[in-house]
Amino acid sequence: MNLYSFSPDRFEQILREIAQVMLPQAVTVYLPQEVDGEVRFRPWDLVTLDTRFPRPARPAKEFFLPPAETLLYFRRDGSAQKEVFDTERRILVGVRPCDAKTVQLLDRVFLADPSDPYYRARRETTLILAFACPQPEMNCFCRELGDGPDRLNGADGLLFDRGDRLELLAVTPALDELFRPHEHPAREIASAQELRAPEQEAEWLPLAELFERLPGLIPDSRLWSRIESTCVGCGACSYLCPTCHCFDISDQVYGRVGKRLRTYDTCMFPAYTLEASGHNPRSSGLERWRQRLMHKFRYTPELTGEVGCTGCGRCIDCCPSKIDIREVIRNAAGTR
Ligand code: SF4
Ligand code: SF4
Repeated sequence: MNLYSFSPDRFEQILREIAQVMLPQAVTVYLPQEVDGEVRFRPWDLVTLDTRFPRPARPAKEFFLPPAETLLYFRRDGSAQKEVFDTERRILVGVRPCDAKTVQLLDRVFLADPSDPYYRARRETTLILAFACPQPEMNCFCRELGDGPDRLNGADGLLFDRGDRLELLAVTPALDELFRPHEHPAREIASAQELRAPEQEAEWLPLAELFERLPGLIPDSRLWSRIESTCVGCGACSYLCPTCHCFDISDQVYGRVGKRLRTYDTCMFPAYTLEASGHNPRSSGLERWRQRLMHKFRYTPELTGEVGCTGCGRCIDCCPSKIDIREVIRNAAGTR
């Protein structure tokens, strides 16, 4: 793997050159940028380059699974249809390692056989240049999950802020090919591990205890009741969660033509499990919260060996009821 070393100015210049290449080789550079007080990934305006790469409020998952996307257009009589694939070539610069890890988790769902062609098209045309977090945000807890802020987590490359220099580890050939025409690598390294900072002490969350206890925590236990009395069921926690990936499909018809949409859905909404008969197997908020925990900390580890949470802290940031998933984990695991 090639390791590059640039001054911030040189990095910006190279990125500018990459961003200005025209069709057919064009690559759109997306960066976290603050507009009207909100940090979001946006196409780089070639003006502001903040090499602190602030953490966007919305996860990078939106590039692979947007909140709403048109899958296809159709004639109502079934005589014709046209699928829509997003094939923009892009590089996402400054993705936090926890968000890069998300994509690994989503791959297991959307690239498993049979793979999702809309997701696959985006994966094949999008490069992820992650940024090792210099310091955690207020509610981040990747270390408490045994992870770390300078992990590669499946990204195409990893950028480090070394004060007056930026170091870029190009892991995949596709990312290396973008930078190599502009700069000689400083050196080759065998493993991303060589670049990691010494491990910092962290109090790990009791994931093993949680895994064991979750199935036995029946919905009417005191733990769930406490959550139900405060959770308003807004669904913000799962819409902003980088690993939540439930969706709904609907058709919108305009006379003789129409379009098929895929939009986020969430197990935090009552309608998610409402059956045609009117019966709802998860009719209360506490049953829905239990499902959320079961999915992330029981079913996903059973299927993949990984928990379905990256510790990004967004659900804590956004919850209007100030529910902190770390507290819920400790309470459900019986360690508090
Ligand atoms: S963001 Fe908070 S209040 Fe809204 S559904 Fe999630 S836990 Fe409940
Ligand atoms: S559950 Fe919360 S902390 Fe975990 S990945 Fe989802 S939003 Fe981030």
